[in-house]
Amino acid sequence: MFFLDPNYLIYMIPALLLMSLTSWYVKSSFAKWSKVRARSGLTGAQAAQKLIQTAAYSIENGAALRDVRVMGIGGSLSDNYDPRTKTLNLSPEVADQPSVASIAVAAHELGHALQDADNYFPMRVRTFLVPAVNIGSNLGWVLILAGLLLKITGLAWAGVWIFSAGALFALATLPVELNASSRAKRLLVESGIISGEDEQRGMNTVLNAAALTYVAGLITAILQVLYYVNLVGGRRR
Ligand SMILES: [Zn+2]
Repeated sequence: MFFLDPNYLIYMIPALLLMSLTSWYVKSSFAKWSKVRARSGLTGAQAAQKLIQTAAYSIENGAALRDVRVMGIGGSLSDNYDPRTKTLNLSPEVADQPSVASIAVAAHELGHALQDADNYFPMRVRTFLVPAVNIGSNLGWVLILAGLLLKITGLAWAGVWIFSAGALFALATLPVELNASSRAKRLLVESGIISGEDEQRGMNTVLNAAALTYVAGLITAILQVLYYVNLVGGRRR
């Protein structure tokens, strides 16, 4: 119903463009650097294993990494760390290729495992927000619609507040992602798995491109909230 509102398009078209652009940039950066073979000769999975072994002895709380298992997962760029099962799930391109891009992505996911190991606060906040986001994206919408139709402004505003949990989640995601990447960069350079200026440039390009998608996600979430604020606020006039 809101999709028929021309105002919705004014808010969402820039968001959609931004999301497509950043997603294209991530894919092309990954594609470019996945053709560059790393001098260490390690695949993403091997690099992750090696980092788990070395980190276990060399960094604070690194010992907790010994429980982390490296597993395969289907799909493209579907890589993730699952804190519930303590598994690093790597896609085939990342797990099996000895490229700069694969190593960078695998190390980023390991960065999340390290955050989990030292109870990194923004990660806890983000996990705490997950149920709120799941409820908020559906309930928020229903309350806004009901509030507008029944002309109960308070109800509509409650919906906007609940819906805002999505933007809060996107905001909490940023430090988590940036921190995972900075941990990855440091681990890879210190361990010598990534060496030389060219490889470091590739690693930085791939990881910074990924970070941009989270910035785009945050902007989109904020635009959505602004649209609803405008929709509900505008009805009173
Ligand atoms: Zn991440």
